Amino acid sequence: MKELIIGAHVSFHKDTQLIGSVEEALSYNANTFMFYTGAPQNTARVTIDGESTKKAHQMMHENGIDSSHVIVHAPYIINLANNGANYEFAIQFLKQEIRRVEALGITKLVLHPGSHVGLGVEMGIKNIIDALNQVIQSDTKVLVCLETMAGKGSECGKTFEELKTIIDGVHYPEKVAVCLDTCHIHDAGYSVANFDEILNQFNEIIGLEKLACLHINDSKNECGTHKDRHENIGYGKIGFDTLMHIIYHEQLTEIPKILETPYVSADDTSSKRAYPPYRFEIDAIRKKKYNPNLIEEIRTYYK
Ligand code: FE
Ligand code: FE
Ligand code: ZN
Repeated sequence: MKELIIGAHVSFHKDTQLIGSVEEALSYNANTFMFYTGAPQNTARVTIDGESTKKAHQMMHENGIDSSHVIVHAPYIINLANNGANYEFAIQFLKQEIRRVEALGITKLVLHPGSHVGLGVEMGIKNIIDALNQVIQSDTKVLVCLETMAGKGSECGKTFEELKTIIDGVHYPEKVAVCLDTCHIHDAGYSVANFDEILNQFNEIIGLEKLACLHINDSKNECGTHKDRHENIGYGKIGFDTLMHIIYHEQLTEIPKILETPYVSADDTSSKRAYPPYRFEIDAIRKKKYNPNLIEEIRTYYK
């Protein structure tokens, strides 16, 4: 049997760079990870240090992390769907981000397609295609993975059809793939409880060979509410069994699975997110056993 490829969102600090990210992933017993190359909500970025990148890849190699399974997430303020004042900046930033990802020796970049902000889905998708055609060139080595979105506000990419339209519109469709987020498709209205049916739909509309990354999250909200609020594994409206069915799906063994579940607060009275849940969620996933004491165990461990 193939080994499960499971990891989590980790941080990337300007001092420790990729080495810090690898160390954090290993502290969760993960064999892959995802990170932003800087703060996700802004576009301030540091220069990638070649020496620490080399050391980090050595560390990955020694610890069973295949760097082809590692993901970078583009900052979510990059909006390619609206060709207003920030459109040019977004395109230029994304070009540079792809160079940073290449310098880091990473091959997959997850991108939110963008929000049309009043222009309508059709215009939004046209803008996304035009932008991607400026960004992705014949020598681009990174695979741009468009994320399935919850449909919050005016987000494009909330259906498989919308993503397919984008892929069909770009000049280099072989350099564009999809990242499926379980919380997002559930919030977008796909009944994740019938996952095999949804995977069939995905295959018919986009093609299973285009599925390059999975974000594994439970959801705080009911199916179809377009909210995009992630919940810890087994603690939300999707539930442990359905998520396990997806994680261990025989057609998805080659695809890296990344947790983006919320940090846990230090106690019930605090709302401040204090401790990462990933070490314990990955443990429960590997044991295939729901942990009813997850929150308590996380608090005890990190206190
Ligand atoms: Fe995302
Ligand atoms: Fe996601
Ligand atoms: Zn989300």
